[in-house]
Amino acid sequence: MAQLDTRQKLAILADAAKYDASCSSSGTVKRDSRGGKGIGSTEGMGICHAYAPDGRCISLLKILLTNSCIFDCHYCINRKSSNVRRARFSAKEVVDLTLSFYRRNYIEGLFLSSGIIRSSNYTMEQIVEVARSLREDHDFRGYIHLKTIPDADPELVHQAGLHADRVSINVELPTVGGLKRLAPEKSATQIEGAMADVKTAIVDNKDARKKYKSAPKFAPAGQSTQMIVGADSATDGDIVVRADSLYGRFGLRRVYYSAFSPIPDASAILPLQRPPLMREHRLYQSDWLIRFYGFAAQEVAAAADESGMLPLDIDPKLAWALKFRGGFPVDVNRAPREMLLRIPGLGVKAVNGIIASRRWRTLRLADVARLTVSLARIRPFIVAADWRPVVLADRADLRPIVAPKREQLELFGG
Ligand code: SF4
Repeated sequence: MAQLDTRQKLAILADAAKYDASCSSSGTVKRDSRGGKGIGSTEGMGICHAYAPDGRCISLLKILLTNSCIFDCHYCINRKSSNVRRARFSAKEVVDLTLSFYRRNYIEGLFLSSGIIRSSNYTMEQIVEVARSLREDHDFRGYIHLKTIPDADPELVHQAGLHADRVSINVELPTVGGLKRLAPEKSATQIEGAMADVKTAIVDNKDARKKYKSAPKFAPAGQSTQMIVGADSATDGDIVVRADSLYGRFGLRRVYYSAFSPIPDASAILPLQRPPLMREHRLYQSDWLIRFYGFAAQEVAAAADESGMLPLDIDPKLAWALKFRGGFPVDVNRAPREMLLRIPGLGVKAVNGIIASRRWRTLRLADVARLTVSLARIRPFIVAADWRPVVLADRADLRPIVAPKREQLELFGG
């Protein structure tokens, strides 16, 4: 490996980390203050923004320890057979970089992942050493998110949890068949075994801390995972059901989706094109329906078409309502909360608003209009004091009437 300075390594290893979606960077125009003009730069390498459990946006230094890897996962730009420029930080270099970025107020924490060098245990030891040194040698109190390696010694994964706020283990592909085909050196059993160990450690730690306030914390921000979407033949239905099962079995805080992006010198077994980014967006909306709107994974999957894919032009809640019209219209003055949450175009805040208002008065269409961005979209699905959709609800051509205009993203759709 050629001798590289810290800046060169940072350029390579921050770029290599961008394929991990567990925290996302925001795009902007390029500006800098080189030449003494102005102050600041939008080109700081490796800084991404993530959301803390309390909803705060925090800046993280997001890097890999190394982009060299002894594995050859087909979808990964860092795989053994990939022809990319390689770089490697020592644990001390990552510690120094994190502290210097932190002292300059660039970041509030570190997101560290790595390719596998020598062995899973050796790599995990290096990752743990970064977090240990930050916490114990430097009393670093910022946020730390560590990617852990599933087949590393469970004791090392445990050590990671003792120093990190969050740990994550990527399931990589939505199906076991996809994993076997595209990441043959990885094992679904090992991945799920490691997630189960982390879940047990988190639960045990909560119990211990109830009894002994001085018990050390273990991954207080929980564990998360990531799935690559569009690299194998898994349908949206498969993905939604798998994600739900991961939430249920391993108590995950989040399942992240990363749309597969074709890489240079890609393996011949990969698709030539990336899936539409909208697919990733629809999967995140499905995730919200399950976590916050009371939908079962099977219900969301049932909103998909015959090929198992969710429509891209409308959100999954609207797709479900159009397919299962028997439950509509819903009376906004009488329906229980769980039915109100199923009305397309009404978010949790709007539903809370309806429930609070109807204690004092009977709601009319105009009252509901104030709580949604598109009255036209929800009219076929509701009954109010002065409104009942007689013909509208049964129209065969309802979909184009309620679908958002093609160029417009429904940012606030429920
Ligand atoms: S183990 Fe991780 S870094 Fe290595 S090739 Fe597979 S996905 Fe890429």
